[in-house]
Amino acid sequence: MVQPYTHEPFTDFSVEENKRAYKEALDYVKSQLGKEYPLIINGEKVTTDEKIVSVNPADTDITIGTVSKANQDHAETAMEAAEAAFKSWSKWDPEARANVLFRAAAIIRRRKHEFSAWMTYEIGKPWKEADADTAEGIDFLEYYARQMVELKPGIPINSRSIEHNQFRYIPLGPGLTISPWNLPFAIMCGTTVGPMVAGNTVMLKPASNTPVIAYKLMEVLIESGMPKGVINYIPGSGSAIGDYLVDHPKTRWINFTGSKEVGTRIYERAAKIQPGQHHLKRTAIEMGGKDTIIVDNEADLDLAAESILYSAYGFSGQKCSACSRAVVHEEVYDEVLEKVRTLTENVSVGNPEKDSTYMGPVKDQEAYDKIMEYMEVGKQEARLVIGGEGDDNTGFFIQPTIFADAAPDSRIMQEEIFGPVVAFAKAKDFDEMIEIANNTEYGLTGAVISNNRAHLEQAREEFHVGNLYFNRGCTAAIVGYQPFGGFNMSGTDAKAGGPDYLLHFMQPKTITDQF
Ligand code: NAP
Ligand code: MG
Repeated sequence: MVQPYTHEPFTDFSVEENKRAYKEALDYVKSQLGKEYPLIINGEKVTTDEKIVSVNPADTDITIGTVSKANQDHAETAMEAAEAAFKSWSKWDPEARANVLFRAAAIIRRRKHEFSAWMTYEIGKPWKEADADTAEGIDFLEYYARQMVELKPGIPINSRSIEHNQFRYIPLGPGLTISPWNLPFAIMCGTTVGPMVAGNTVMLKPASNTPVIAYKLMEVLIESGMPKGVINYIPGSGSAIGDYLVDHPKTRWINFTGSKEVGTRIYERAAKIQPGQHHLKRTAIEMGGKDTIIVDNEADLDLAAESILYSAYGFSGQKCSACSRAVVHEEVYDEVLEKVRTLTENVSVGNPEKDSTYMGPVKDQEAYDKIMEYMEVGKQEARLVIGGEGDDNTGFFIQPTIFADAAPDSRIMQEEIFGPVVAFAKAKDFDEMIEIANNTEYGLTGAVISNNRAHLEQAREEFHVGNLYFNRGCTAAIVGYQPFGGFNMSGTDAKAGGPDYLLHFMQPKTITDQF
């Protein structure tokens, strides 16, 4: 029997003891900053001349770590290691594989604040956001391990009296996980250990902004008994080793989370059969969003304002699920806008090392420049209500920003900005609100704030997103509770943290034994 699992609780930082523990973790991690990290290929530490330097986006003078950078030769060695390790790892009892994950979860739970503190420094996560990221990573370890134990016997099928039929799942082989920097622990961990516990071997290419936290997971998995070659840690340039391994004839599957530009490129390349390739590559491609909160005229408007606030500005809006559009009924539009503006005035922006900081920096200069460009677009297209300013002197800080009266087809209503910017649009009735909400190429998350049950039921059918929420914000999905993934150009809808996730990385085999 599989043990039931409830999710890892979030830390209550209003409790003095928890506050102290997090500060201690920050101090500890601070004492660890600036170290060197090798690649890990076939269990061996490999140091390269070329490096990735991970810096603190809140204070770019602070180096988090200097990480070896894999080139194509390293990628090839990693593939050979993954291929060799697959032979035995795929034969391990699924429960034994799951035990590696259970042990890793236990270790990380004991060192939870330390993991979160690494993210506070490496990517500028405020305490609460970092704490949720670590909790989600623990949840992925626990949840996928249980899923694998459940999948072990396969699914019962019919047998006639002259035969015994079996239907079971086997892993695919070596594959590639490419992860983003915005949930640098949770998504990196889940998209790696999911395929791995299913019996596959992995080449892990973490985002170049956040390689150190990924190394920390590797350390824990090795401590937990993961055999060599099962996960190979190869940070490097997406275009150089990413393309190389996506194209590789021996790559069986690719598990990607990131932008639409890169995701669609991988999807296309993975479809091409290379010389010597004897299979079709599986792809799970999870991409961006342009997520909407609808506010009905019959609604709790304070709930609406709070939901928009935390969904728009949590982790500086750098979530694929972030609310970047509020579509509000004309009867309550001015009131909701004013409530959100007032709340936004009180959002503290600063170094996330401080517990009073609600919003830290954005990830780097590239992101800063892109978001600031959208500020100009927004000023042309709509009415700036609050924010619009940035400061990149020591880190990459951008004020929480609202644009009002945006046209549904304007760029700020259509394009993923990935920063603390929300656009408001007015609608005359519920049909129009749904129509606007569905008018992008994406379909990731959405929320409806309404006390009208008929409208909620209409949204249940017509609001076309992978994760739909009623009377709450549109971020903060929890593993096992809100399996996560989007429609349309948001991706393949792999539903991370859901009951069929591992099946993307397995193939069912039917065996008939005739008597
Ligand atoms: P990104 O630029 O696409 O990067 C994601 C990963 O792809 C990184 O590891 C990156 O490596 C790598 N990469 C870049 N070029 C590549 C190539 N040619 N071949 C293979 N890999 C390549 O995305 P991002 O800016 O880091 O992340 C933000 C995006 O992720 C947003 O659009 C967000 O909505 C999306 N996202 C989606 C979900 C979801 O579940 N749907 C969750 C989180 C984020 P480098 O770092 O070395 O460039
Ligand atoms: Mg990028």
